[in-house]
Amino acid sequence: MSFINQSPEQAAEFVPGVRAPAENAAPAMWFLFRGDELVIANANQSPLLVSLDHGEIANMAPLRQHYLGRLQTDSGTVHCFCGELDAGRVLPEGYGGIGLRQYLASAGATMAQLAIRARQVVYWDRDHQYCGRCGTPTELLPDERVRSCPQCGLSNYPRLSPAIIIAVTRRFAAETRILLARNHRFPAGRYSVIAGFVEPGETLEECAHREVLEEVGIQIRNIRYFGSQPWPFPHSLMIGFTAEYAGGEFVLEEGEIADAQWFAAGELPLVPPKISIARQLIDAFVTQNGHGSSIREW
Ligand SMILES: [Zn+2]
Repeated sequence: MSFINQSPEQAAEFVPGVRAPAENAAPAMWFLFRGDELVIANANQSPLLVSLDHGEIANMAPLRQHYLGRLQTDSGTVHCFCGELDAGRVLPEGYGGIGLRQYLASAGATMAQLAIRARQVVYWDRDHQYCGRCGTPTELLPDERVRSCPQCGLSNYPRLSPAIIIAVTRRFAAETRILLARNHRFPAGRYSVIAGFVEPGETLEECAHREVLEEVGIQIRNIRYFGSQPWPFPHSLMIGFTAEYAGGEFVLEEGEIADAQWFAAGELPLVPPKISIARQLIDAFVTQNGHGSSIREW
């Protein structure tokens, strides 16, 4: 899922929308969720999204459904929808469920992004059926992705939680090294770059300085934007940066960070899988520092 490096042409394949087209007889692409699982056609071993007409969808009785937009493919325009099935619903023959992480690991960039979009829309709709301020049932507006409260007017948009993720490098005598840390929750031997959620009122740069200082006790400088990645667990937007070491010694955050070290490109520990922006930051460091063949992932 290396869509942070997508070309503009690739990104333009999908045109988002909120209101479904009035005329839509052709089968549409459906991102249906049953509990936490994405429904796929299981005729093939590889995950295949379901293409269904509206009669078939009516038979599956989704609790909620939304239009996502249209996808331009070689064979024409395909309209895309998402929906939620009851968690206990038995799927018709030929269909199965797959975990979203598993799907993302094998899907192409466009499909991965659509599945991420679909899940966040489905979960937002499910979680905002009632107004958080006054408890009144909310209403879906027809032309905007918002659930609005008819009593007090509170608008509930799909929730996004920005988080910074940052690769800090330091120049040593012989080479440049990258800061990788191990969270207590990580299985043994696994390291990654520093990341953390943005706090209310904070800029991305302030967040980057704070997270690195909190987690490992050092100062950074020369913060540069790298790329971004939506991450739907539950609704993050990862904003990637690079930075240089500016000062300080490691002081690890108690209860959070088990270890932090400066690693040379040829001596990396186990790093996250390619699906993640963390890995793309690490790969970019390795590319710049001349050792491409030694990467082992979780
Ligand atoms: Zn209200």
